[in-house]
Amino acid sequence: MKTAYIHSDLYASYNLGPRHPLQQARLIDICETLHNQGAFDENLVLVEPSPCKESDLLSVHDAEYIQIVKRASQGETGIQLSRYGLGPGDTPAFAGMWENGLLYCGGSLRCAELVADGTYKRAISFAGGLHHAHYDHASGFCILSDIAIAINTLKSNGYKRVLYVDIDVHHGDGVEALFRSDPNVLTLSFHESGAWLFPGTGNVQDRGVESAVDSVWNVPFAPNTGGDVWCSTVSDVTSHLMDRFLPDAIVLQLGADALAEDPLGHLVMTRSEWLQTVDTLLQMFRDKPVVILGGGGYCRAAVVDVWSRVALLAAGRPWQIGLELEQSLSTSDALEFHRSTMRYLHDQRGLPF
Ligand SMILES: [Zn+2]
Repeated sequence: MKTAYIHSDLYASYNLGPRHPLQQARLIDICETLHNQGAFDENLVLVEPSPCKESDLLSVHDAEYIQIVKRASQGETGIQLSRYGLGPGDTPAFAGMWENGLLYCGGSLRCAELVADGTYKRAISFAGGLHHAHYDHASGFCILSDIAIAINTLKSNGYKRVLYVDIDVHHGDGVEALFRSDPNVLTLSFHESGAWLFPGTGNVQDRGVESAVDSVWNVPFAPNTGGDVWCSTVSDVTSHLMDRFLPDAIVLQLGADALAEDPLGHLVMTRSEWLQTVDTLLQMFRDKPVVILGGGGYCRAAVVDVWSRVALLAAGRPWQIGLELEQSLSTSDALEFHRSTMRYLHDQRGLPF
């Protein structure tokens, strides 16, 4: 399966500070791991990103917010940054964030272009997937919505219906908000319930606005939910919505913070369970162009391991070697929460299981 891997070491200049949980230097480690394995060849092709244009950002974000990001990036003082979600705190402004923002958004845009013209079946940019970025403010470590730019690029290239699937442990609130009135973009987020975790949204009852009813799907889980429940739910719900929504293209956000090792989330997937689920999704999407993006993931060793394996499996290679196969188990509280979520989706949203 011909797959593009978009990477630049400059991705690591997304610098929220030395003690911040999000360290994009992990992306350099992944690329090195793949190099050391001799993974790049005619089926897994390393491609340099180029910066997107300011007009690409304007297709997604508020013009005033874009100017604020640019000015703060240049070190201008006197801006009330907190009005725009730019720290101090989760998402501090940093010098060079404008240039970096254009680059990581450009990487996701490039993914969409490469799969749209058929050059590649799949394209990966792990610097992207920043799903908490909103129309007019930053949030949750995310400044600009590369995901929305990728979705818009697919649409402008003739892919009418785009399915967005988000398996990050946090709700994909920014993407959902940007597309909730678009009937041709279905956003599907699997995450730890907002009752326990940032950003506090992503209720199972949310279904979109009247003009785009059923374009929003949320499947929240309780803390200590494991692969026994999560894996089959992710694949079964996605499969059902593939049949129902009939997308032309897919954008997949692969935040790796649902792993048991992650210090921020409270779900307990093993690496093998998580990867087997990604494998199942990619098999499900095999006839569609797929853009694969990153997201959260705060245990660096685990993220480097699973994302480098994602690159292998996207290119149709063996990726299971050296993975432990033990099964994690959900607690009884997590199972009870899950049963009530699925009962709702069955009764109110027409899920057949
Ligand atoms: Zn996350």
